[in-house]
Amino acid sequence: MLTGPQFLPTRLEKIRARVAQTALAAGRQGTEIVLIAVSKGQPLERLAEARRCGLSDFGENYLQEALAKMDAMQDPGVTWHFIGRLQSNKTRSVAERFDWVHTVDELKIAQRLAAQRPSSAPPLNVCLQVRLAEEVSKGGVLPADLPALAQAVHALPRLRLRGLMCLPPPSPDPAIQRGYFAELRTLHDRISGSGIPLGALSMGMSEDFESAIWEGATHIRVGTALFGSRGPRS
Ligand SMILES: *Cc1c(COP(=O)(O)O)cnc(C)c1O
Repeated sequence: MLTGPQFLPTRLEKIRARVAQTALAAGRQGTEIVLIAVSKGQPLERLAEARRCGLSDFGENYLQEALAKMDAMQDPGVTWHFIGRLQSNKTRSVAERFDWVHTVDELKIAQRLAAQRPSSAPPLNVCLQVRLAEEVSKGGVLPADLPALAQAVHALPRLRLRGLMCLPPPSPDPAIQRGYFAELRTLHDRISGSGIPLGALSMGMSEDFESAIWEGATHIRVGTALFGSRGPRS
């Protein structure tokens, strides 16, 4: 595997170029798209290197691993995104330590986050995870249940409902990828049109972020394309 000191800067430069090119082709500004470096399974040195390369948004799936990295880095310049499955017994640390949660799919979880978000912290940014296809990970609210959940979460204190997130089944076909992302964008526009201002579309990973950008992604979550393969889950 390609490692060495030039590994991350080279990968990052290529990803940034692809983001910029795709955005340009889609008539968008590449600079308005947030690159979330998905650092799960990556050692601390990789995150430190990513910081030196100018990355400031990190996505983590596993709470204990994420908290250990936060404690070690003590870096107020980092925006931490929780992108893993969220169980109700884990909400407190997420509410206390993260800046964004992308995977809210139940009112009960949102209520706990709202109650546990410290009043000294700014509101916790929330995306609702939507399940667009049957075979996807168990997470996600069904599109039919999304409007009611959005209304309820929007009304909660200490949270700021920012947008929608999806994790569609992988497909090598850009047309299929774009179909899912277009669906999420349509749902987003419908909710925004109903008086709940959103704005964020968290969609696209290493294999499909260009398709996501074509369909309006504001936050792409990129792990392996940036860092290479992950270590075993820690
Ligand atoms: C792991 C993960 C990613 C990153 O996946 P890559 O294919 O490594 O880019 C993005 N989003 C979520 C929710 C993930 O769990």
